[in-house]
Amino acid sequence: MKIICVGRNYAAHIDELNNSRPDAPVIFLKPDTAIAQYNLPFFIPEFSKEVHYEVEVLVKINRIGKHLQHKFAHKYYDEIGLGIDFTARDLQNKLKSKGLPWEKAKGFDGSAYVGKWIKKASLTNIDKLPFSLYKNGDLVQQADTSLMLWGIDELIAHISQYFTLKIGDIIFTGTPAGVGPVAKNDLLEGYLDGQKSFSLNIK
Ligand code: ZN
Repeated sequence: MKIICVGRNYAAHIDELNNSRPDAPVIFLKPDTAIAQYNLPFFIPEFSKEVHYEVEVLVKINRIGKHLQHKFAHKYYDEIGLGIDFTARDLQNKLKSKGLPWEKAKGFDGSAYVGKWIKKASLTNIDKLPFSLYKNGDLVQQADTSLMLWGIDELIAHISQYFTLKIGDIIFTGTPAGVGPVAKNDLLEGYLDGQKSFSLNIK
């Protein structure tokens, strides 16, 4: 399986990192080894002094798809989740400034944390799905999917023009504003559509 991530999909987050607004979705991949074990803590890697959390809505692909049209994209997933795209921001900034690929900063072991999956059919409105992240009990990120520059079905259609989607692939749909660093002993808690999605210790 592969992990397909979307960058710069919320206007307020683009502004907080002083990035420019893209005219097409920004896409990058993480290897399957980036998937974090659901029940284990996240271990801050030694090569970074500034690992950031980015809470994101996740989509799990359930059919093989290629060159999909927007109107058919909804048939290619029936589970939605919430996760964290852990990012070694110091390393990413260094790589970005040299025009180099981000993989070391974005695709390291454990960098793709996946919370509980929820059946799409049980969610009220996928196009306005609220989600939030708390760090040590404080609300740090809060948004809903209507604030995405490209919605889930548009992303699936776009991604499938370049990468064949396979069963089990996970799409990280981008993070809203409020990203920030994690430190040892932090507790991250995510909520999707009012339900607790994960509780994650940082080590
Ligand atoms: Zn992200």
